[in-house]
Amino acid sequence: MKKIIAVDGPAGAGKSTVSKIVAARLGYTYIDTGAMYRAVALKVLESGKSVEAVTQDIEIKLDTSGKVFLDGREVTKEIRTPEVSRGASDVAKFGVVRKKLTELQREMAAQGSVIMDGRDIGTQVLPNADLKIFLTASVEERARRRFAELKEKNFAADFEQIKKEISLRDKQDSEREIAPLAKAEDAVLLDSTSLTIEQVVAEILRLAR
Ligand code: C5P
Repeated sequence: MKKIIAVDGPAGAGKSTVSKIVAARLGYTYIDTGAMYRAVALKVLESGKSVEAVTQDIEIKLDTSGKVFLDGREVTKEIRTPEVSRGASDVAKFGVVRKKLTELQREMAAQGSVIMDGRDIGTQVLPNADLKIFLTASVEERARRRFAELKEKNFAADFEQIKKEISLRDKQDSEREIAPLAKAEDAVLLDSTSLTIEQVVAEILRLAR
């Protein structure tokens, strides 16, 4: 059985949805690294301080039920707004932020039996992961999924706007200098465009075993 699973890919490919299910089936811990970049962005937006200052003095915790804590305060919902999504992609360009979060992520994975998702897990954070997945889907499909998700949570949502924001985030994440979104050479490419959640989960479980 593979002990450390890395899942990377662009926004809305279904990484967190399938990773959570795989974690539950294997009895693994799921670690959502995007939530950590989002927490940094929320603190920058709320405090008005520089990214460097915020990074020096920040405490981010993820609990096993998926709750996110920023300096002891629960921010699970606050970090899911479109403004924080944009902010996360902005702060993610900074070397100081990436260094700090990468260290934290490696500590969190040290015990094994984890599935971690993000953009640079297979390439930078856990290059020795036992299984690497690069999960992708067409922009159209990813925007459709994000639209449905926002609707369900009663956030105001505009499909074309979401598609534009996802494309912008893809571009920014793929073109940044440090740890850009990329498929690790040894990662398995999974295109979820016409797959159900259960099909993707089954394929990852098959590869894990
Ligand atoms: O995965 P999620 O969409 O929540 O991530 C928010 C943003 O955080 C991404 O658009 C990306 O810029 C950044 N991120 C990153 N590296 C990771 C995880 C997320 O740069 N490992």
